[in-house]
Amino acid sequence: MSNVEWFERARAVIPGGVDSPVRSFSSVGGTPYTVASGAGAYVTDVEGRRYLDFVQSYGASLLGHAHPEVVAAICEAAQRGSTFGAPTPGEVTLAEMLVARVAGLEQVRFVSSGTEATMSAVRLARGATQRAKIVKFDGCYHGHSDGLLVAGGSGVAQLGLPGSAGVTEGAVADTIVAPFNVVPQLDESVAAVLVEPVAANMNLVAPAPGFLAGLRAECDRVGALLIFDEVITGFRLGAGGAEEYFGVTPDLWCFGKVIGGGLPVGAFGGSAALLSHLAPAGPVYQAGTLSGNPLAMAAGSRVLALVGPRDYDELARRVSRFAARLEAAIRASGLYAIVPVVGSLSGLYLAREESPAPTNFSEARVWAENGLYRAFFHAMLARGVALAPGAYEILFVGLSHDDEVLDAAVDVAADAAADVAGHLA
Ligand SMILES: *Cc1c(COP(=O)(O)O)cnc(C)c1O
Repeated sequence: MSNVEWFERARAVIPGGVDSPVRSFSSVGGTPYTVASGAGAYVTDVEGRRYLDFVQSYGASLLGHAHPEVVAAICEAAQRGSTFGAPTPGEVTLAEMLVARVAGLEQVRFVSSGTEATMSAVRLARGATQRAKIVKFDGCYHGHSDGLLVAGGSGVAQLGLPGSAGVTEGAVADTIVAPFNVVPQLDESVAAVLVEPVAANMNLVAPAPGFLAGLRAECDRVGALLIFDEVITGFRLGAGGAEEYFGVTPDLWCFGKVIGGGLPVGAFGGSAALLSHLAPAGPVYQAGTLSGNPLAMAAGSRVLALVGPRDYDELARRVSRFAARLEAAIRASGLYAIVPVVGSLSGLYLAREESPAPTNFSEARVWAENGLYRAFFHAMLARGVALAPGAYEILFVGLSHDDEVLDAAVDVAADAAADVAGHLA
C-alpha cells in the first residue's frame, strides 16, 4: 500500500491522520510519508523509499533508530514482563543514572511523557510554594497541558494557533507569558518560572548571555522556583544538561525524549526536600499506571549507559561542522540561511535576504512564516532527506549521523536550495 493509501485509511479513523499534529503536513502541504521502519540515521516508508532522517522522533532518538543494543535491552525487559504496578529495579537504576549526571538533582519521579513532567513539576512548584502564578516564555513549548499551552511554539505555532480551543480562561488565568531572553520582573505571587534553557520549539534560539542567570537571581529575589524544561536539552546538550552547559542551577528539572530511549517516558526532579512534597510523602498528588514502565526504563538506561561525555563532545563537533557547511551551502545557492548552533543542537532559518538571527519568538516567526521552509522541506524530501514538516522544529542530529552522512545532506541541501532560489527568481 502506498503512502497516500495509508494516509487515507489513517484519516478515516484518526483525526487528521496523525496522533500528534506536528507530524501532519498541514504547514508544508502534501501527504506525510508513513514510516515502515527505521535504522540509524534513516527511515524507510511504506513504499520502500529511504530518507536520511533529521526528525529522529523530535529528539527522542539520540543513538538513531533501532540501535541494536537498545533493541536488545527492550526485548530482554519484555521477556520479564512489561508492567506490574509495583516497584521494579529498572526505575531505580535509571533514576540513579539521572541523579549521578545532573548536579543538584537528588530525586526524580518518572512519568510517561514530557507533558506530564512539566504539568507535574508545575503542580509541585505551586504546592511547595503555596503560590499560584507561573511564568512561561512566548514560543517555548512545554507539552499540551491546559495551563502551559498558551503561546507554545512547535505545532501550536505551526498551525497558526494562539493557544487552543478547549482551554478555558480559568485554566490559563495563572499563566503569565513573557518574551524569551528578557528577564521578567516577578513578584511574590509567582510560584515558578518555567523555561526551555535553549528554546528549541521556535526553531533554535539560544539564551542571551545572562538570561538564565538573571532568571535564577529574579526567582531567588521573590522566592519563586526556577524550572528548566530539559525535555529536549536533557542528555542531548551534554551529560549534565543545560545546568552544566550554562552554569545555572534550577530548582526543578523536567526530562523526556532522550531518557526514554524511544519509549514513552518523562521525569521531573529536584532536591529531596522539594520532592518530599509529592504524594505519598507529601500533599501534592501525582500518579501513573505506566509510570516507570520497565521497557521504557530499560531502553532509557541503555541509551544513557552507551553515551558518555566524549560522545557529547563528538556530537557537538559534528553538529558545528555540519551547521557551518549547511549554512554556507544554502547561502551559496542564493537563499539566505542561518543555522544556529548551541552545543549539539542545531536549527535552520531561511530567508530571501540577509537578516539578523532571531532572539525571541516574534523574530523567529518572521523567518518561519516567510514560506521558504515549506519549499525547502519539499525540495529536501524529494531528494531523500526528511526534515520536520514544520519551520519551528530544529534539526535533530544524533550519534547515528556521522560526518559522511551529514556531508551528503549538505550536498542535497545545496541542490535543494538552488531549486528553491530558482523558483523565486
Ligand atoms: C516535546 C517537548 C515537551 C512535551 O513532551 P511530550 O513527550 O511530547 O509530551 C515538553 N517540553 C519540551 C521542551 C519539548 O520539546
